[in-house]
Amino acid sequence: MARAALAVVVVGVMSLSGCSTDAAVKSSKASTATVTTSTAATSASATSTSAAGPASGIPSAASPSGIPSATSGGASTSSALDPQQAAKAVEARDLQNDVSLTDPDMHAIVRGDVVVLGTIGTARLANVATDVDDLAGRVRDRTSSTTRPLLVLVPATEAEFTAWTGGESTDNEDGITFVQAGVDPFVVLSPSVIANTDTDTTAYRRFVIAHELVHAYTQPAQTLRLWVGEGYAQMVAGELTESDYGADDIPMAAHLPKDAEFTAEDPRTAADAYWLASDFFYYLASQWSLEECTAFYTAANSSSVEAAFQKVFKRPLSAVTADWVKSYEAAAEGAA
Ligand SMILES: [Zn+2]
Repeated sequence: MARAALAVVVVGVMSLSGCSTDAAVKSSKASTATVTTSTAATSASATSTSAAGPASGIPSAASPSGIPSATSGGASTSSALDPQQAAKAVEARDLQNDVSLTDPDMHAIVRGDVVVLGTIGTARLANVATDVDDLAGRVRDRTSSTTRPLLVLVPATEAEFTAWTGGESTDNEDGITFVQAGVDPFVVLSPSVIANTDTDTTAYRRFVIAHELVHAYTQPAQTLRLWVGEGYAQMVAGELTESDYGADDIPMAAHLPKDAEFTAEDPRTAADAYWLASDFFYYLASQWSLEECTAFYTAANSSSVEAAFQKVFKRPLSAVTADWVKSYEAAAEGAA
C-alpha cells in the first residue's frame, strides 16, 4: 500500500441520462491558469458555434474539409487523421451542438476504434492518443471488458471543458466519462491535466486517462454505488500506471463513503471519499486478489453490492468493512 501523497485526487463518471456527477478535487491551479491565458481566443468560437442549429456545426461526411489537418500545425506526428471519423464520433454521441468541428484549432487523431479530438494542439493531442493506445488494452485485460468505440475530447480551455461536458467545471473535475446504455462512451479531460509536459503532469495524465478508461470500458450502471465505481477505478489506474494520488492530509478514521461525499461541495470531503474508497479496494486486493476485486466490481454492477460481495469474497461486506476500519485506523495512528 505504498502510495505517494499528492495534493490531487480526481475524476468522475456521469450518466448522460441522469445527473449523478461525481466531484473531483484539484488543489493545484497553476497549470490551469497557464493554459487559459495561452488559448483564451479559442473559447469564444467554440461557444458561439454551439448556438448554431442542430448538426450545422459538423461538416457532412461528403465535405470533411472543416477539420484542419494536424500536420498543418507544424507538429510532427505519425497519427492518422480522419475528419470523417471524427465527425461520425461526435454525431454518434449527439455532441454536434457543443463540439465545433469547424473550429480552426480543432484536430483529430484516430487510432483504431479510438478518436482523440481537441483544441489543445497536435503535439499534446498525440501524447493523449499514445497514452490511450498504451493503456486501453491493459485496462480491458484488468477489468475483463471488451473494446468499444471511444471518443476522447481534449479541450484547451475551461470554457470548452464546460461546454463539452454540459456544464461541468475544471475546478471540480479532472476528467469525466459519459456512459449511457446503448451509446458509445466519451471522455472529456480537463486542460489542467494535459497542459504541461513535466514528469509529474505526465504521470498524472496517465493516471487520469487510466481511471476514465475503466469507467468507459466497464460501463458502470447508474445504480452502482460510487464507492464501488470510483474505488475500483482508482485502484486499477494506480496499478496500471504504478502511481496513486490522494490528499496530502489523509483522513485518520475510515468509513465506506456515501455517494453524496463524492459529489460534496467541500473539496476535502470529496478527496477523502476517493481516498477511502480506493483504500478499501487496496485492502481487498491485499486480502484476496485483483482478480477477485474485478469479479466483485462486475457482479456489483448488476446486483446489490452486498450480494455481490458475499458471492465473491464469501464474507459479509459489513464484517470485512469492520476489519478494514480497524486496520486502517491502526496504520493511521502508527503513521501519526
Ligand atoms: Zn471516476
